[in-house]
Amino acid sequence: MGHGVTLPSAVFRARTRPPRRILGGPLQGAVVITFPVSVPAAEDVSGSVCDLCGTDRHVAVRLEARDYEYGVPGVFRLARCPACDLYFQAPRPALGSIPTFYPLTYPVYGDDPVTGWLFRVMFWLEARRIARLIGPRGRVLDVGCGAGAALAAMAHRENWELYGVELDPGAAQRARALGFNVQQGDLIQADFEPGTFALVRMGHVLEHFREPLRALKRAYDLLRPGGILFGETPNTACWDFRLFGRYWGALHVPRHITLFCEKALRLACRQVGFEEVRVIPRLRTVGWSAGLQNFLSDRWGLRVPPNGRVKWYPLLIVPFLPVTALQALVSRPATIAFVARKP
Ligand SMILES: [Zn+2]
Repeated sequence: MGHGVTLPSAVFRARTRPPRRILGGPLQGAVVITFPVSVPAAEDVSGSVCDLCGTDRHVAVRLEARDYEYGVPGVFRLARCPACDLYFQAPRPALGSIPTFYPLTYPVYGDDPVTGWLFRVMFWLEARRIARLIGPRGRVLDVGCGAGAALAAMAHRENWELYGVELDPGAAQRARALGFNVQQGDLIQADFEPGTFALVRMGHVLEHFREPLRALKRAYDLLRPGGILFGETPNTACWDFRLFGRYWGALHVPRHITLFCEKALRLACRQVGFEEVRVIPRLRTVGWSAGLQNFLSDRWGLRVPPNGRVKWYPLLIVPFLPVTALQALVSRPATIAFVARKP
């Protein structure tokens, strides 16, 4: 990552501030993003036809946000489809600009000293759920497997045949070094045998795709009949998004390109052929915790380190657990898990 990319400049109305530099340790100066960066002109909502339902109703830009965590420069606009409630960046980012959204300081999940332990607990719990879904045998593909932390939790659990696909070459290499069969690249182009997987895991990856429907279709094709799609993604139909808006912790622009809610997610799964779609609320405080950090960073000048999380971030998790639990109870959580079956 960290390719120098020059993108066309444009006029924007949002308030501007010199972008925060991404500094720190041995990675200093490694992120090369050339200014000025791409910002769509106010009236430009090209690419804002809803990919999911293709509605002819007016798809409008709902908010403009910046990257308050890693300081990737730019103002990113999110449009909402009034028919299916899908949120997506409008215009959609060019494929070539997507690698610049991931600075070298972007932690591979499970890797970050501040929140890594939390991810390891979650992966352990997930491996248990996967065992309940498919039993002790079968081929499992982890999409966006990072450095292999979730694969490692699965390997510890059962004797599954484990595969991974990961865009980042360094992370893919590390997962391979752990002994996993990991292809580096995009899910769509990856060379796996269709119709053979018992389960495809998409843990917090769907929202990173420029074309999430194609990714879902590819997962569908790779699964064997009766195979299970299992994943997790943010849910815009939650209280914290309403409250925080552009600061919402799960917004995570520019890395999140498409944001679902339960309704949109069910529609997307069914559209590619899945049946028995189940959506399950998850206890994740990120909407609140990172939301508060984002707010403090933008409004109060809080300095966020290059890994995107302040040192005392874990303290931001505990106070929001009760409200998150309440949200899960009334089906308004910031994160939803989904399980769908290929007929
Ligand atoms: Zn739509």
